[in-house]
Amino acid sequence: MQLVNNESPIKNEITLSIIVPVYNEQEMLPIFHHQLEKTLSTLSDHSFEIVYVNDGSSDDSWDVMLNLNSHYANIECINLSRNFGKEAAMTAGIDNAKGQAIILLDADLQDPPELIPKMLVAWRQGFDVVNMKRSARLGESRFKCWTAHVYYRLLDHLSEVPLQKDVGDFRLLSRRVIEDIKQLSERSRYMKGILSWPGYKQTTISFERPERVAGETKWSFLQLVKLGLSGITAFSVKPLRIATWAGALISASAFCYGFWILIKTLAYGEVVAGYPSMMLIQLFLGGVQLLAIGILGEYIGRIYAEAKARPIYLIMDKEKNDIAHSMVEK
Ligand code: UDP
Ligand code: MG
Repeated sequence: MQLVNNESPIKNEITLSIIVPVYNEQEMLPIFHHQLEKTLSTLSDHSFEIVYVNDGSSDDSWDVMLNLNSHYANIECINLSRNFGKEAAMTAGIDNAKGQAIILLDADLQDPPELIPKMLVAWRQGFDVVNMKRSARLGESRFKCWTAHVYYRLLDHLSEVPLQKDVGDFRLLSRRVIEDIKQLSERSRYMKGILSWPGYKQTTISFERPERVAGETKWSFLQLVKLGLSGITAFSVKPLRIATWAGALISASAFCYGFWILIKTLAYGEVVAGYPSMMLIQLFLGGVQLLAIGILGEYIGRIYAEAKARPIYLIMDKEKNDIAHSMVEK
């Protein structure tokens, strides 16, 4: 295999950036950081940085971050002006990371840092994207696992971009992929789609996704539905096409049925009957029309958000220790 990512780190050049979006993770952060440092300290040939992005936490996550920053040399802390959502927080991290490779990690240890060396080996072998596939999801309800399973397959089917099934945001991306992703300035940020969009040489590593160590999930069912819808509308126009085809099919059936009624009336005269069938057809058509308008509305809403072109996130503070980054220099 051709080795394309095997340049040795130049002094002060950061090889690896770890991006961690954080929202109300004050109990998790010290445990997470300890675990991450333990893994990173085994990588003697890599210089690294950890980019913590505080996504408008209402607890003391920012202070915990600053405290970590004052004790460790390789941290950058970014404080967003409010809660913009995980997708925006990851974007802020990506825009500020300087590494030749970046890894997106959740702060709750559900994306195990112990897998980082394996991911780096794949990167050094020349892969631009290392996807981490969830072979099992421990500690999550059967309903969530099943809906996630169906959703990933549905989206892959609808999307024009090939999306990896059962792969979350936990992945490694090379610098050239990151530079391409930075050009995708859309407001509707479905990161799993955006991260897959550039393509390049990809490989997949399977892992069992463990349970969250402390705290609780920040996603309610409704938020997951919203994220799911934004994924579909951002990466596919097929629902619009389905609405068009459904409309055409229903119009054709209505025409045939109308023609049959006309013949029947001419042959047998007018019979006043058929109240139930009329109601049924009216309700059905009303429902289909509202659904089609709803689908249109979803897309128009996205166009509206894009037209306003507001920033994806706002940075309130940025803190970084002056101590040099390189593990090699330590
Ligand atoms: N997160 C964030 N902003 C949010 C919600 C979540 O930055 O609005 C972060 C959170 O702190 C964690 C990661 O995104 O590091 C994943 O969140 P969570 O564990 O709640 O998601 P789940 O694993 O349940 O999908
Ligand atoms: Mg989690």
